[in-house]
Amino acid sequence: MSPELARAESLIRGIPDYPSPGILFRDITPLLADAEALRTTTAALVEPFDGAFDVVAGVEARGFILAGAAALAAGCGFVPIRKAGKLPRPAASIDYALEYGTATVEMHDDLPTGTRVLLIDDVLATGGTLAAGRSIIERLGYTVAGISVLFEIDGLGGRDVIGDLHTVFHSS
Ligand code: AMP
Repeated sequence: MSPELARAESLIRGIPDYPSPGILFRDITPLLADAEALRTTTAALVEPFDGAFDVVAGVEARGFILAGAAALAAGCGFVPIRKAGKLPRPAASIDYALEYGTATVEMHDDLPTGTRVLLIDDVLATGGTLAAGRSIIERLGYTVAGISVLFEIDGLGGRDVIGDLHTVFHSS
């Protein structure tokens, strides 16, 4: 790992027992607030997929920040995958399981069929969120060019659910 990436990784802090007891929350806001760390990690998120995607999609809410920055760095557009009820004209909805209960994501269908979408999120835990993101992209007739995540939490099964994905950092 480059010194720049190692420094960026050091800016991700673990907050114990947030938002509930037993959860170690990976807080990326110090990394986002640092210009060099944000630039370095954004480049690392898109670099393996260079030339292989037409647009970047992010999952609400922290995925928006990284996916928006990645789209700007790559010179392409950004598409939001939002929680239910937030988009004015959703073309598809996907329900998925959370640790407790369920959630729904929605997406517009303003892209040409077959558009290659790079899907980005901040943290991979159980994989449910990114699996739903991938499903809704495919449901609308687009191609998932890749899945890229800033921080993978090992041991929660996310990699088994998602399969092939790129992660910049992972828990040890
Ligand atoms: P999952 O669907 O279980 O993979 O959870 C991933 C989503 O929940 C991501 O969008 C993260 O923002 C958030 N998330 C889950 N666990 C954590 C954690 N320990 N720290 C920070 N964010 C998390």
